[in-house]
Amino acid sequence: MNVTQSIDEIRAQRWRDPSQSWGLVPTMGYLHDGHMSLVQRACDENDQVGVSIFVNPTQFGNETDLTKYPRALERDLNMLRDAGVSLVWTPTPDIAYPAGYQTYVNVEDVTQMLEGAARPGHFRGVATIVSKLFNVFQPNRAYFGQKDAQQVAVLKRMVTDLNFNLEIVVGQTQRAADGLAMSSRNARLSAAGRKQATCLYRALTAATNAFKQGEVKAQTLHAIMHEIINAEPLAEIDYTSIANADTLIEQKFIEKPALFSMAVTVAGIRLIDNMVIA
Ligand code: AMP
Repeated sequence: MNVTQSIDEIRAQRWRDPSQSWGLVPTMGYLHDGHMSLVQRACDENDQVGVSIFVNPTQFGNETDLTKYPRALERDLNMLRDAGVSLVWTPTPDIAYPAGYQTYVNVEDVTQMLEGAARPGHFRGVATIVSKLFNVFQPNRAYFGQKDAQQVAVLKRMVTDLNFNLEIVVGQTQRAADGLAMSSRNARLSAAGRKQATCLYRALTAATNAFKQGEVKAQTLHAIMHEIINAEPLAEIDYTSIANADTLIEQKFIEKPALFSMAVTVAGIRLIDNMVIA
């Protein structure tokens, strides 16, 4: 496994044998089973797999979140080596964003709501770095997790709009045994917070089950989610949403494909989760 900061080295290795297919898994490191399920799938579906590990400054709203982001490079590299990855890009911010940098990718409508509203500028940073990764690696397929549903909607739109010549592959959300979606943020939960954090999964399960059983009124489905979350003293709802899964436009009477999603702060840690009914 080649680990490099150099864009030239990435390009050289990627194009050494043009007949080989390449999968790319973009990450910010501190890898867990959610990331590794994408890596595994990429290894199954491509001749070669590249991974990027880069805590991207342009997608963070404040400096503290960026500096507090957990890092464990050596451990990450061992996991990727064991999984059969060929190439890892670990750029510094100066390599990713050279002096005088002034070019950004803005996906317009689908970035306005939900995480985009809560974190202004976040998706501009995501779309910009992912465009750069696509240009550096030129993969045949790129792998993203359903856990970040809006990110998937934004990047699919971007790939269509800007004619990137690749396929976006979406991997299922990996969960702990009690349903909590895996996230690098979970490590920061207190013991009590960790217990109560299952309310996101329980609320999404209850609402999607009610929808499957015929309840289509958004108001009723939102109430189901709120009741379950509000029963946890450490949980504070940022938003619950039931939207069209492609446009992310909020619905009053739910039709498929529907994205049920939410952001909830549990014991001071902001968690997101979602389920799609296609
Ligand atoms: P991050 O390092 O947080 O930027 O995540 C890198 C990729 O892993 C993104 O495509 C995420 O959506 C994906 N990912 C994060 N958590 C999970 C999870 N629990 N299940 C599946 N994919 C995930």
